[in-house]
Amino acid sequence: MPDFLNDAQRDIQQRAHSLGRRVASLNADTLEAHQIESETRALSKRAGIFFLSQPAEFGGTDATSLEMTIARDALGTCGVSHLPGLFGPAPGLLAQASEQVRNKFLKPYLAGEAKGGFGFTEPSDAGRHTWATYEGDELVINGQKSYVTGGSQADFVNTLVEVEDVGPAMVLIETNIPGVEITRRFGSIDGTHHASFSFTDVRVPREHIIGDAGAGMKRALDQVNAVRMAIAADSVGLCHFVCDHVADHIHRTELSTAAPGTNQAVRVQFGHMRAQAYSARSAVYRTARLVDAGDNAVNEVMTSKILATEALGSLTDVAIQIVGGEALADLHPLASVFRRARATRLAEGSTEVLHGNIARGYLDLQLGRI
Ligand SMILES: Cc1cc2nc3c(=O)[nH]c(=O)nc-3n(C[C@H](O)[C@H](O)[C@H](O)COP(=O)(O)OP(=O)(O)OC[C@H]3O[C@@H](n4cnc5c(N)ncnc54)[C@H](O)[C@@H]3O)c2cc1C
Repeated sequence: MPDFLNDAQRDIQQRAHSLGRRVASLNADTLEAHQIESETRALSKRAGIFFLSQPAEFGGTDATSLEMTIARDALGTCGVSHLPGLFGPAPGLLAQASEQVRNKFLKPYLAGEAKGGFGFTEPSDAGRHTWATYEGDELVINGQKSYVTGGSQADFVNTLVEVEDVGPAMVLIETNIPGVEITRRFGSIDGTHHASFSFTDVRVPREHIIGDAGAGMKRALDQVNAVRMAIAADSVGLCHFVCDHVADHIHRTELSTAAPGTNQAVRVQFGHMRAQAYSARSAVYRTARLVDAGDNAVNEVMTSKILATEALGSLTDVAIQIVGGEALADLHPLASVFRRARATRLAEGSTEVLHGNIARGYLDLQLGRI
């Protein structure tokens, strides 16, 4: 829980919370999305929150998993944790890339001058996973990726590729080279934008393999794991944002229509929402501490992502029902959280797939403390 925080952690919590309140007050009626993003970035840099996710060698503060959780949770309680511009780009997979790739891509990426995407998901009818063969010092890549967030603006996509005779590898593919084509651009319900890619005889230097060839699936999953934790932390903050919204609603309606406590049916629903929020938040903070202790916390991260996103989906649905049709207006905060919650139950691994993995972790691999 966000209890037992030391002074430095409480400082992050307070800075993130006041940043969240300022970002929440930016007016979506009068500002374009890109203006909100750049204003958010400027405010976050001033609050020192932007740099938490970046390494010290690039001016960041290299925050721990617990510190990131505290910041995301605090931003979530203001209803804004999922907005772009709050955190600086983290090196992610590129931290393990060859020197050549780091020199060319990592610096501009961390400075916000180059954008990257993550290519993992493939169309269900793809037939064969994206694959590559060696030709001299080059890889020749063919295949498709169906759901690359930010793909239309990406200068490169870190892509999971099955390399012949080696196995899965993460490979950096620039988006402007021959054979790379965007076959579809689309937005999703949560307001984020994506692209589908096809690769036809795309040639990249061997150095574009990130880390050891053959260890690509592990590398991809390390990256996915970090994002799952971020989604879980955002979601617990948003759970509390939604609960606060319903508490205000209950107070207002009870004041205007009845004596406090008379609307017992709604109060029971609200109590259930609070219990779900507490359970999800407890799991996420415990997991962040396990990650920081250096433990293998893959199963606990999956569990936290499930608990937090399912709790958020369920209690936001109930909150909308309690508040009524007004909560479905496009710009209503509950409608916005609902769209976000719906996407997070699929993004970075659907709830069902994660449940299956947790079962496998325990039954076949003897992993996980649950
Ligand atoms: C907002 C958003 C952003 C995303 N960004 C990216 C990105 O940047 N890069 C990227 O590569 N992908 C991205 N994705 C794709 C995401 O990872 C996939 O949507 C997700 O992993 C589910 O895969 P799928 O869509 O192919 O559905 P499927 O895997 O086809 O699943 C369809 C349904 O079948 C169920 N199912 C599938 N397998 C099993 C099983 N073994 N047991 C039980 N049930 C099962 C699922 O739970 C789901 O209900 C994003 C998705 C969203 C919504």
